[in-house]
Amino acid sequence: MPICGVLGWPVRHSRSPALHEAGYRALGLDDWRYQLLPVPPELFAETVPGLPGAGFIGANVTIPHKQAALALADEATDSARAIGAANTLTFQDGRIHADNTDAPGLIDALPFDPAGRTAVVLGAGGSARAVVWALVNAGAAEVLVWNRTSERAERLCEEIGGRAIQAPLPAADLLVNTTSVGLRSEDPFKALPLGVDAMDGYPCVVDLVYGSGPTALVSAAQAAGATVVDGLEILVRQGARSFERWTGQVAPLEVLRAAVRGEPAAAPAT
Ligand code: NAP
Repeated sequence: MPICGVLGWPVRHSRSPALHEAGYRALGLDDWRYQLLPVPPELFAETVPGLPGAGFIGANVTIPHKQAALALADEATDSARAIGAANTLTFQDGRIHADNTDAPGLIDALPFDPAGRTAVVLGAGGSARAVVWALVNAGAAEVLVWNRTSERAERLCEEIGGRAIQAPLPAADLLVNTTSVGLRSEDPFKALPLGVDAMDGYPCVVDLVYGSGPTALVSAAQAAGATVVDGLEILVRQGARSFERWTGQVAPLEVLRAAVRGEPAAAPAT
C-alpha cells in the first residue's frame, strides 16, 4: 500500500489529504493512502528518515518545516536549492529527494505566460521566495518586491532576483499577495500599501491566502474586473505537481479542485 502524507506543525487543518485522496479515488488507485503527519520541529529530522520504512513513498511539507526538509534531503532540485525550501519529499532507493512544487504550481495557475510581463509581489517570507524565483525564471520582464520589513525584500532580491521597492506600488500585469494578510480577515487595504482604486492597475491578481470564503483582496480584485487566482487554486496546482511526481499519472485537476473546495466531485464520464 503506497502511503503519502503531509508533514507540518500544526497540520490538522490541511486540505492536502482531501485533495490527494480524491485524486487516488478518481484514478482507481484504491490502495493509495494520504495521511496527516503532525511533527513538531524538534522531532522533524529524526522522524522523516523513518517514513520509508513505514511504507511512505513521499510527503508534502508545510509550515514550519520547508527549510528543514531541504536540509535533510540527500538530493534536491536546483529550484528547491535556489528557493531554500522544499515542499515535496520523495523516498526512493533509500534516498530522500527534495523538490519545490510551489514555484511551478504558481506558473501553472497563471492565466498567461509571465515571460515579458511585469509583476508586483507583496511579501518576502517563505512563499515569496518561491513566487519570485518562479517569475524571474519564467522570464518576467520585471519582478518588483514590496515587504513591510523592507530589508527582508532587499535580501530576498539579492539572493533570488527581482527588485525591492517601497510604496507607492506601480501598476503591473500581475499582483501576487504572498503576505499572510487576509488569513485572519485583516483589511488588506489597511495593512498593505494598496487602495481599492489601485486595483484597476492589476489585470491579474493572485492571493496565496485562503480561508472559508474569498479574501477581501480577491473580492476587490474581482469587483475591479481582474482575472483572479485564489489561494485554493495555488494549493491545487502545487499539490497536482506532487501527485504527479509520486503516482506517475496526470492529476485530475477538476477532482482536486472540488476536493479542496469541499464540493461534490463531478460524476465520471460514462
Ligand atoms: P511567512 O514566511 O511567515 O511570511 C509572512 C509574510 O507576511 C512576510 O512578508 C510578512 O512581512 C508579511 N506580513 C505578515 N503580517 C503582515 C501585516 N500585518 N502587514 C503586512 N505584511 C505582513 O509566511 P509564508 O510561508 O510566506 O506564507 C504567507 C501566506 O501564504 C500564508 O497566509 C500562507 O497560508 C499562504 N500560503 C498559501 C499557499 C497556498 O498553497 N495557497 C502556499 C504557501 C503559503 P514581514 O517580513 O514584515 O514580517
